[in-house]
Amino acid sequence: MTFRNPFVVFAVSLLLAASLLNQIADAATANKAMVVTADDRATKAALEVLRAGGNAADAAIAAQWVLNVVEPGSSGIGGGGFFVYYDAAADQTVTLDGREKAPMSAAPGMFLREDGTPVPFYPDRITGGLPVGVPGALKLLEEVHRRFGSGKYSFAALFQPAIDLAENGFTVTPRLAGFLDDEKDRLGRFDGSRRLFLKADGTPYREGETLIMTGLGKTFRLIQKEGTGVFYGGQIGKAIVDTVQTAVFNRGSMTLEDLAAYEVVERAAVSADYRGFKIVSMGPPSSGATTLLEALKILELFDVRPREINAEDAALFSAVQRIAFEDRNKWLGDPDFTEIPAARLISEAHAWERVRAIRDGRFLKKLFEDVNDVLSALEEQAKMEKLTRPSGIAAEDSPNTSHISIVDEQGNAASFTTTIEAVFGSGMVVEGWGFVLNNELTDFDPIPADGEGRAVPNAPGPGKRPRSSMTPAIVFKDGKPLIIVGSPGGSAIIGTVFNMIVYLLDYQMPLDKAIAAPRFIHRGDALEYESSANLSPEFLSELSTYGEALRSRRLTGNVQAIYIDSTTRLIYGAGDPRGEGFAEGY
Ligand code: GLU
Repeated sequence: MTFRNPFVVFAVSLLLAASLLNQIADAATANKAMVVTADDRATKAALEVLRAGGNAADAAIAAQWVLNVVEPGSSGIGGGGFFVYYDAAADQTVTLDGREKAPMSAAPGMFLREDGTPVPFYPDRITGGLPVGVPGALKLLEEVHRRFGSGKYSFAALFQPAIDLAENGFTVTPRLAGFLDDEKDRLGRFDGSRRLFLKADGTPYREGETLIMTGLGKTFRLIQKEGTGVFYGGQIGKAIVDTVQTAVFNRGSMTLEDLAAYEVVERAAVSADYRGFKIVSMGPPSSGATTLLEALKILELFDVRPREINAEDAALFSAVQRIAFEDRNKWLGDPDFTEIPAARLISEAHAWERVRAIRDGRFLKKLFEDVNDVLSALEEQAKMEKLTRPSGIAAEDSPNTSHISIVDEQGNAASFTTTIEAVFGSGMVVEGWGFVLNNELTDFDPIPADGEGRAVPNAPGPGKRPRSSMTPAIVFKDGKPLIIVGSPGGSAIIGTVFNMIVYLLDYQMPLDKAIAAPRFIHRGDALEYESSANLSPEFLSELSTYGEALRSRRLTGNVQAIYIDSTTRLIYGAGDPRGEGFAEGY
């Protein structure tokens, strides 16, 4: 018999000396409304919309188009995203899927070489026309505006702040300059990209220089005038198809029919209770909600107390992520093509079943009554390990994408993660139209079948949406939004949001500390810690005793988050010190 045993901590707590990142985020505070995005210009544009009587939906739309200008390699009209919206008047949370779709010409083996091995990820698989999915961002935001817009702004008017910046030019930030420098070779391969992002001498724009995006201004103006049809079938659509089909590298076969067929889908919101809080995030085709919530439901079996971050907790946080990731790799894909047991994966019953896969007996002893229970749990674990071993496809990602968190005066909340996948997506700008096309199809598993020839759920296929890890989330307390959070980071997004929620709810850290605290990520193959966190050798040596392989990685994520304190009525906002995020409210 199992029972819920209070988790009394006896282990030596190895404190993190001066622990966190050098730079600590400062939380902005406000009483009525808050916007947090990856760039101050997007935050300010959204805030202006709110101040003029627009709502969180309007503001998120304005922010996205400004991000398309100032963070052109991270998200935009050539990509897709997931929009989680709490509509205060209806007291309802809606999750909209604007994920890119594979064209009808996509095939299971599209990313395999002749010898059956996958095309190397960087730069070959992600570059050119083949990995481009049908963009969903524009239709997604049109739907957001239609369903949730305040009526104060037309959809067309919300492009204006972005048009002004694109046409007048904007200052290149250190982060963008770094991305341009990293990606100059890929961008240099394509005329449209070279002309926009590299100067006449072939060097990329540098920090502090002014970049003008006339083409993107033209795109936005034409949509203002003619509506979204011009993108999904008209002049701009033709230019997209042409760019994909005539790519000088890795031609694709997207057609105008593929563009015309694109549809935004409302998905059932996936939510679970966690220690009395309700957490809502994006369900399939994102693996965000199910993986985050499965990990939290397993963690909920343990009693985690607020304390300094220590190796024991870091190991436990990572172990539960590992288990949830094993299930993710096994089950998650496009729900229109694969049956996904979402409710089961995030149930308490499943958490009890899967907690046995924790490798370290020290954790299991805290949960099981006597030593025989632990022994049979470990035996069970051995079986589970065999059954659930992931297919061996390593998660690959890039430090990209963008997250927008907004709460408005009416209490509406927007949690919107938006992407073109890799930094500068496919590397291709639609010539003359100033936007980068995504490479979202590389989120499909490149090997479409397991060792026995059975199709894996995330195999490429015609009309399919690749599995995502984006995890735009809203945490509720007593029915009201408490936390709005999300991040870029490829498949490390899920662990990043998991860390944020655990630090805020279990460790009860203030928002600025939680966002700066070191992150511990497990995506199935290793416990990853941030090299920038300067963990002590003692901490790492204690961490290594918990049976997970250790791996250091660079900064993880670029979180934009809001915390609403209902007792003091203060709203806190903070951007990640790992990026250039900016929070402001009123
Ligand atoms: N393409 C990724 C996903 O949808 C997000 C891109 C990233 O952050 O690297 O999961």
